[in-house]
Amino acid sequence: MTPNIAAAKADLAHLEIEEREATIRSMSRDFFWYSPVLKARLDHVVADFVVYPKSEDEILEILATCYRHDCPVTTRGAGTGNYGQAMPLAGGCVMSLKNLNRVKEVHPGRVIVEPGCLLKDLDAHCRADSGQELRMFSSTWATATIGGFIAGGSGGIGSCTWGALRDLGNIIRLRVATMEETPRILEFRGEELARVSHAYGTNGIITEIEMPLAPAYDWVDLFVTSDSFPEAAAFARDLAKEDGILIKLASVYEAPIAHEYFQRVKPHVSAESNLVGLMVAPHAMEAFLTFLGRRPGLRLIYRSDAADWDRKPGPVFEYGWNHTTLRALKVDPSITYLQIRYGGTDPLEKVEAMRNAFPDGEVMQHLEVMRENGNTIFAGLSMVKFTSEQRLDEIVRIHEEAGCLIFNPHRYTLEEGGRQMVDDRQLKFKREADPKGLLNPGKMISWDVPDWDYSRMYAYEKLQAAE
Ligand code: FAD
Repeated sequence: MTPNIAAAKADLAHLEIEEREATIRSMSRDFFWYSPVLKARLDHVVADFVVYPKSEDEILEILATCYRHDCPVTTRGAGTGNYGQAMPLAGGCVMSLKNLNRVKEVHPGRVIVEPGCLLKDLDAHCRADSGQELRMFSSTWATATIGGFIAGGSGGIGSCTWGALRDLGNIIRLRVATMEETPRILEFRGEELARVSHAYGTNGIITEIEMPLAPAYDWVDLFVTSDSFPEAAAFARDLAKEDGILIKLASVYEAPIAHEYFQRVKPHVSAESNLVGLMVAPHAMEAFLTFLGRRPGLRLIYRSDAADWDRKPGPVFEYGWNHTTLRALKVDPSITYLQIRYGGTDPLEKVEAMRNAFPDGEVMQHLEVMRENGNTIFAGLSMVKFTSEQRLDEIVRIHEEAGCLIFNPHRYTLEEGGRQMVDDRQLKFKREADPKGLLNPGKMISWDVPDWDYSRMYAYEKLQAAE
């Protein structure tokens, strides 16, 4: 199967096609460079051309044309993913969905939207329409698309109340185009949603999305400090368990993260301050302050509804989730990160074990409170002072041996970034919907090497060679 890229491009010439080399290069990249491991391997990756469909019909035409000419297609929302998810490893076509950005319908509790709509535009539309907002969004709310969030993201602001995107009820319906001689349109609900959500666009293109909504609030942003990290973490966990206090975010940052890396917070904290970032509904503020009053070790240092800081810190959620790493990288380029799930009956016990395993600041704890099956757990986005790939792998191993689940952000495949196992639903659907394996090639190991054993990092055979 030899791709005929020139023929595919020529057949699509009547559509909006990007010709500028610099733009093609930037449209071939995402935030893979967060990882020194991926930076070393993917920096040179570039598409042959970029196309911007304006409708579902144009998507179908692009897929049929590329199928005919064996041309790989990598779909792009806004390219804010962290693992090279939207990068065309084997070249070919990048299909940007930025023009499919219409909010189609808003109803009580749900919205129907095209995939290229930015999360912030979707929220603004739902709020203006009927005082509603998304249950959850990635901290890249201002720049990321809803399609990219579903195909590449996992959860974020709102997950402390609603759980993760993959939890039942957090996506209602997806409309999906297949990559066949004559592409089909399928509609997925319930069990079927797992075929294409968080599948990196490897087995179908999401062309329409139905998402649940919640009432919109003018959330109060807050920062609270504590001299004790365990106390700060327990405070965030216990707040999330207070069912009567509505929150949208509870992030915990071990000292000295706030002092070292949060420039606008720095004047208000010391190097010993552990920080908690929160979003609380305005009507829950009194209850929140009562809860806080019961914890003498915690101190409120900022609330967005009071003009008490000369330089406002901006949205507190833009300190949380993967924005923490971004802020640290701006100060210290040697910082990288891990993604950890601290579950079980006492997640904080595992967190403490990891703090004890790295007492010298090589790994700094950053926790995000999440709901999971009625329990409160932590997503860890620990910051790591990078020295070598070998040491990074060792740090991963130390976590795994202590029973912490790692979603390795230094890998570009679905399986290695996930639970290191084949997702049969996604693989089975790929066989049906992308028989030539042209959708975002190189991202699903089980498609390329069914018996891969995960003992080392997967290297996609057809990855473009660096010049
Ligand atoms: P892209 O990066 O363009 O795409 C992501 C993946 O989805 C790619 O594999 C792409 O091929 C595929 N894709 C895109 N659109 C479609 C479609 N319509 N059909 C099929 N496949 C498609 N993620 C979180 O989950 N939570 C966070 O809180 C979070 N915080 C972040 C903070 C920072 C600073 C950064 C850099 C990243 C963060 N991320 C987070 C990762 C990323 O920003 C989000 O997942 C985001 O929602 C992705 O949206 P996007 O439009 O940029 O998608």
